[in-house]
Amino acid sequence: MIRASTFKDKRVAVFGLGGSGLAAARSLVAGGAEVLCWDDSPAGRAAAAAEGLPVVDLTAADWSGLSSLVLAPGVPLTHPEPHWTVARARADGVEVIGDIEIFCRERRALAPRSPFVAITGTNGKSTTTALTAHLLRHLGHAVEMGGNIGKPILTLAPPAPTHVHVIEMSSFQIDLTPSLAPSVGVLLNVTPDHLDRHGTIEHYAEVKERLVEKADIAAIAIDDAYVRRAAVAREAKGGLIAFTVGKGAGLVPQLYAIGSTLFSHEVTGSTATSEEVARLDAVGSLRGRHNVQNALAALSALRGLRDLAEAGRLDSAPSHPPFFAPARMQAGMATFPGLAHRMEEIGRRGRVLFINDSKATNADSTEKALLAFAGDIHLIAGGKAKEGGILPLAPLFPRIAKAYLIGVAADDFAAVLAGSVAFEMCGTLEGAVAAAARDAAASHAAEPVVLLSPACASYDQFRNFEHRGEVFRALVAALPGIEVRVAAS
Ligand code: ADP
Repeated sequence: MIRASTFKDKRVAVFGLGGSGLAAARSLVAGGAEVLCWDDSPAGRAAAAAEGLPVVDLTAADWSGLSSLVLAPGVPLTHPEPHWTVARARADGVEVIGDIEIFCRERRALAPRSPFVAITGTNGKSTTTALTAHLLRHLGHAVEMGGNIGKPILTLAPPAPTHVHVIEMSSFQIDLTPSLAPSVGVLLNVTPDHLDRHGTIEHYAEVKERLVEKADIAAIAIDDAYVRRAAVAREAKGGLIAFTVGKGAGLVPQLYAIGSTLFSHEVTGSTATSEEVARLDAVGSLRGRHNVQNALAALSALRGLRDLAEAGRLDSAPSHPPFFAPARMQAGMATFPGLAHRMEEIGRRGRVLFINDSKATNADSTEKALLAFAGDIHLIAGGKAKEGGILPLAPLFPRIAKAYLIGVAADDFAAVLAGSVAFEMCGTLEGAVAAAARDAAASHAAEPVVLLSPACASYDQFRNFEHRGEVFRALVAALPGIEVRVAAS
């Protein structure tokens, strides 16, 4: 746990008592702050009380002596409108921050140049964070991973030269972290999403860009208009590592891809060299073009750490292992287990591959999954559809051998597929797995794929996408003759 020593003797309100809020309260108490915990829900208050944390009704409390309000990232800061605690804090001149801000202040006090990688983007954050942590461990580094993935940041070890913090950040968390200044900030992409919580795409992009603004090194993809603008702005200031799955669009990228082969471009004096650093063609956990971008992002983070270490701008363990070493990074890629429910290879039966992409809750994500396979896809789709359904997938319909439809969206999806793609109304996931496995086994293709990539939310039939993916895994694992792969993390 990280003790919030920079808040010693301060009076701090913590609102939103989920995992990260409780961790913040614990950390503040351990650091010597006076803490007032509150949540609109009785369950959150009960969780804090059960741990002996001080629960104080913030609707009735005196806010005048408070130094800070620590807000959970799920609580609206700006849109659709500020939460009542935010309005109250503003009225009383109390700063509003999040748990990662507490980490940043602790780092500045204890180990300001300790290795700290922060990662954001609309899509690919978790994959890039997990891959960066995995590669660093493979290279021999001690890693603390958390934030928006896995553990709340304040439950990790304190910042120190001996280990690298690899932290995934949502835009909500960035908004609550005014002094964010990582060693390397990684910005993957910005596309319209969560606009209900950020108002406009411009505001959303501006929040995302803050992650790299004060980073010692800004690693920025240059594949969409918003992040390219951030890269161009950073190039003028220096400390940019640009990476691209495309051609560079006016900027010279330091990392780029040709197909699924990744290259690093280095300039030393007047000599420029390009070196192959990894190949993803045989890496089952990183299928698809989007994962090429994620892998380039992870490599950019490592290269950023290397550049800072070489320039003497990073406090790392004496005789630390290398941060960037192609042969070892390639071996690390090959052993990346991937993340559960995102293009997760569940197993094989003969030539048939079974993939769990339950996280694909909209057409955009299912598009990425379909792009990862050339054809003969036995697609299990349906659930609670988003606006637009699967219509945007029409250009990829030729890759689908047959669709197996489930959930409340089945009728609508059938109407879109009719005449272009064969389909079967399966009702349940159980029926769909049985039918898809049967048809895929009868296919003559070299590698038929049974792909769960529903393009829908799961709530009509499952608790959440994780539950849907676990049911899929169990159904596939029960097929006779299946060879199941070890579960992803
Ligand atoms: P996040 O943590 O940002 O939600 P994940 O790594 O969990 O991202 O991936 C979620 C889904 O987003 C994937 O299943 C895939 O459909 C899509 N995705 C992942 N990486 C990218 C990327 N670099 N660009 C576009 N889409 C992506």
